Amino acid sequence: MWLAAMQAPEEALQKDLATLAAGDLYRRRRVVTRRHPGARVVVEGRELVDFCSNDYLGLAHDQRLADAMRSATLAWGTGATSAHLVTGHTAIHHELEDRLAAFTGRDRALLFSTGYMANLGVVTALAGRHDLVVEDRLNHASLIDAARLTGATTRRYRHADPQAASRRLEDHHGRRRLIVTDGVFSMDGDIAPLRELAAVADTHNAWLVVDDAHGLGVLGAGGGGSLEVAGVGPADAPVLVGTFGKAFGTFGAFVAGSATLIETLIQRARTYIYTTAPPPAVTAATLKALEISVAEPDRRARLQTLIERFRAGASQLGIGLTSSPSPIQPILVGDAAAALRLSNELFHRGFWVTAIRPPTVPAGSSRLRVTLSAIHEPSDVDNLLDALSASLAFVNRH
Ligand SMILES: *Cc1c(COP(=O)(O)O)cnc(C)c1O
Repeated sequence: MWLAAMQAPEEALQKDLATLAAGDLYRRRRVVTRRHPGARVVVEGRELVDFCSNDYLGLAHDQRLADAMRSATLAWGTGATSAHLVTGHTAIHHELEDRLAAFTGRDRALLFSTGYMANLGVVTALAGRHDLVVEDRLNHASLIDAARLTGATTRRYRHADPQAASRRLEDHHGRRRLIVTDGVFSMDGDIAPLRELAAVADTHNAWLVVDDAHGLGVLGAGGGGSLEVAGVGPADAPVLVGTFGKAFGTFGAFVAGSATLIETLIQRARTYIYTTAPPPAVTAATLKALEISVAEPDRRARLQTLIERFRAGASQLGIGLTSSPSPIQPILVGDAAAALRLSNELFHRGFWVTAIRPPTVPAGSSRLRVTLSAIHEPSDVDNLLDALSASLAFVNRH
């Protein structure tokens, strides 16, 4: 009887895994054995062009970042040794915060170890049991989880629909209200209607929180992201979250806003307080990435040219795209099994584009999430389009 009781959880897990596999929702990791410049990776002995990373500016392989990381490692060691509030907050961290404040045009910025933790920290610090958190339905998982953790009333609105957001704010008389949105939606690539959301926030006396993980460094002439493109300033979007693992090619995240907001987070954000500060060397590489992203706007221009080339080529080949203006260019397939088959076909033709399936995206909206990077060559894009066309034809025939 004891043995049966101990096996039961194991069996339940196995059943759960079998259900995932039966629905084509089982996830497998592929081991990258080498990474070469130019978005080349070696996987299972095969060299592929990587068309699904978030390294939009191609900085993850930049020698200058590597040099910054190496010299900071020699000076500071490999770890921060403790949390920011203990002994972990170095001059390098502090300098990056100052630079980020200037870059985003805000009073201050605060580093977090990851974007996931920044979102949990900021939303739980700003909302509690008596408050209201209103979210776009397609927000990143970390923002959805953050709202759950607050214990606040949580309401979701139809994707990118400011009127729907406005209705969700009515008839709630709680202490504080937040409207929370991705700036660039991570699986769709479209930009939130930030001006309209800012107006809704203003009408309802709510705070607009924007997570611009995929916009910063990428969109806008100065790389200021979706807020720069929308012309929305700090007064209208008082809480900005950014990450370093995407366009900046490193690891970590930050929140930028007023001095009061940042002081509040230092006192209240549990994912800031109770965790080790990021390694100073990683932070030094991020400093270099920020400097390069500002100093080399041609990277953004090049990326934009590749996005246009991909979209024009896809439309010529009759490949359906969404209206995304960002480097995230999803190809909607619908069925999870079909998305997997298409991804496998591309793999065998030398291109790495992962299939994105539920629960990352809503049921029935599985897709290939193609992403472009400034280090792709125009010929890479042309070859991807040819392979896509052939793969789609193959999958449709079988
Ligand atoms: C990637 C991402 C995050 C998480 O950032 P990490 O630093 O990878 O934890 C948060 N929000 C959005 C919109 C993202 O795309």
